[in-house]
Amino acid sequence: MYHLLDQRLQYLPGVGPNRALTLASELDIHTVKDLLFHFPYRYIDRSTIYTVSQLPELRAEDGGVPYVQLKGRISDVSEEGVGRSHRLEALFSDDTGSVRLVWFAGISYIKKSLRKDADYLLLGKPALFNLTYSITHPELELANGQSSMVNGQSLRMHPVYHTTERMKRQNINSRFIEKLVVEVFRQLGTERVADTLSDEMRLQYNLIPLHDALRRVHLPANMQEVPMAQYRLKFEELFFLQLSILSFARKRNGKYRGFIFSKVGELFRRFYSEVLPFQLTDAQKRVMQEIRNDLVSGQQMNRLLQGDVGSGKTVVALMTMLLAIDNGFQACIMAPTEILAEQHYATISRMLAPLGVTIELLTGVVKGKRRTKILTDLGSGDLKVIVGTHALLEDNVQFRNLGCAIIDEQHRFGVEQRSKLWRKNTNPPHILVMTATPIPRTLAMTVYGDLDVSIIDQLPPGRKPIKTVHIYEQRQEHLEQLIRREVADGHQVYVVYPLIKESEKMDLRDLEQGFSELCDTFPDLRIGKLHGKMRDQDKNEIMQLFLDRKLDILVSTTVIEVGVDVPNASVMAIINADRFGLAQLHQLRGRVGRGAEQSWCVLVTDYKLADTTRKRMEIMVSTTDGFVIAEEDLRLRGPGDIEGTQQSGLFLNLKMANLVRDNAILETAREAAIHLLDSDPERSHPDNAPTWQHLTQLRDTPVDWSSIS
Ligand code: ADP
Ligand code: MG
Repeated sequence: MYHLLDQRLQYLPGVGPNRALTLASELDIHTVKDLLFHFPYRYIDRSTIYTVSQLPELRAEDGGVPYVQLKGRISDVSEEGVGRSHRLEALFSDDTGSVRLVWFAGISYIKKSLRKDADYLLLGKPALFNLTYSITHPELELANGQSSMVNGQSLRMHPVYHTTERMKRQNINSRFIEKLVVEVFRQLGTERVADTLSDEMRLQYNLIPLHDALRRVHLPANMQEVPMAQYRLKFEELFFLQLSILSFARKRNGKYRGFIFSKVGELFRRFYSEVLPFQLTDAQKRVMQEIRNDLVSGQQMNRLLQGDVGSGKTVVALMTMLLAIDNGFQACIMAPTEILAEQHYATISRMLAPLGVTIELLTGVVKGKRRTKILTDLGSGDLKVIVGTHALLEDNVQFRNLGCAIIDEQHRFGVEQRSKLWRKNTNPPHILVMTATPIPRTLAMTVYGDLDVSIIDQLPPGRKPIKTVHIYEQRQEHLEQLIRREVADGHQVYVVYPLIKESEKMDLRDLEQGFSELCDTFPDLRIGKLHGKMRDQDKNEIMQLFLDRKLDILVSTTVIEVGVDVPNASVMAIINADRFGLAQLHQLRGRVGRGAEQSWCVLVTDYKLADTTRKRMEIMVSTTDGFVIAEEDLRLRGPGDIEGTQQSGLFLNLKMANLVRDNAILETAREAAIHLLDSDPERSHPDNAPTWQHLTQLRDTPVDWSSIS
């Protein structure tokens, strides 16, 4: 048993070294076990054979014709076209009519192997062209051939597996994979794939054995078998994911003690009663309490603070830093861009000034004597707060006693950078990471590993919701009127262009052209432009002009996306809005609506839009709630696209479960993992041995889940 699952694929009949290599490079399938965990994405019912005359009556979910099985003969085989359109065509006929068959690849091999004297069973998805049905790259097999057998039973439901062009060239199609799977189960005979979960757990969570789940998901006797099998396999994936994350977190918590900030001191109190210019929202108060609890717990805080743009995360960060200073520690806050760091510095130093707390800014442009002085004061402890970019991570930035590190806009920083902050003190400081990308709580706990999650789900009072409109670029006069009116009222305007790496030159040309058109349209207004290709110094200069209200319109790429605060700006016009994702549109929109006055977001696109794009625009127009938008975003794009998560490899590794669709299973799996860790902390209970062993094996695989925390 053991040796069969671990056997390399090339030793299965019909595979050999070449196909094994292809399967390894295309699908990451190396062993028999990998093969069993490569799941079909749908099934074909082979119990029914249709006739050509029935095709017009059949309807698939997508409005076309579904995959069908036909039985008939092949005639009129011919090669057509040249170059790219070179193809093999044939006619497939039964007693009721004909369909055209087309191949674009493997032509000579297929041509040789097609037989005109035999009955074929054909599988494929017909498409209607010029009143005739045609099927591209059908699957064919001789009608008298035997069908797949498992344990003496012939199968009616056939699994369909993803294949790639390269696989097809080597005749590795879905059918081929199916045959391999059948062969594996044949070789297993009465042996069973060992389970990874105890009987008790399976009973408690209503899970069928792993062996049965695998067999049923690949080779179901009927469709009723599939859901239970899929459930077990999804649970399996999500459970081990949670177990891995949580057990890593527990290990770490056992290893590091957290600094205890036991007193709410003078600075905190004075700030709260004398400096803070507004009442905290209830959400801010709740989050402050959650942070306070962490800081006295004796464990190192690792907390993610989610809050929509404008929800007031900065003041929470500041108060957390004050707690550190009150208890004799230093604090730092790291931002992803220079502009943002400067802004934090401006805001925070203004609020700290009445308290007499020392604060400095450290970025890549701070050099020479100034830099030396900052580093010395950090080392001696004279400097209490430092605001900066990733320049803070450099090795020569040494603190006397860093107690708390805050990271703004988490998704711009990788895990590695976070762990560098950990090492800035002999005992790691408390860490608070802030993000404006809201995702559902359980998902956040998974994506960001072992971070605890706090949410500010409320905006400060008195904000007017931003009005969002979608206009077509052919009708820009609406936008022009709006710009005129707002500027006349003393407000400022952002005009943003997408910048996508692959077509950077073209995008920049768009921006330049847009800029000069605006200059033509508004010769009397002061217009500036900003993009990533400019020197940092020039960028900062333009931004400063805009902050100082010396520009009316700022034409820019998304360099302004993150965190910039210009309360006087009241219009955000996004050109080619269709090229931005929902999360990014929402972030951009958050740049306006920061004052008490009405603000506008104008989405400009072409008339012609794909359905999902149109849907994105509709969502933006209909809501300003970041959580609703995040959920829609996940629905439209899938969780693999959440910023900052791709590199974790987390989602690439899920083969069956989907973190959004299967959120309910994710929650159950998390509970189960917590229960297991609590009930068997020593990992000594014999019933759980297979589970712990499997966890260890997973850790040895290249994607190390624990590393994402
Ligand atoms: P973000 O969460 O996007 O970082 P900020 O911290 O920049 O938001 O806050 C946005 C604006 O709201 C700032 O001008 C800030 O001073 C203000 N603000 C924050 N909290 C409150 C509050 N409780 N009442 C009124 N204004 C607030
Ligand atoms: Mg912010």
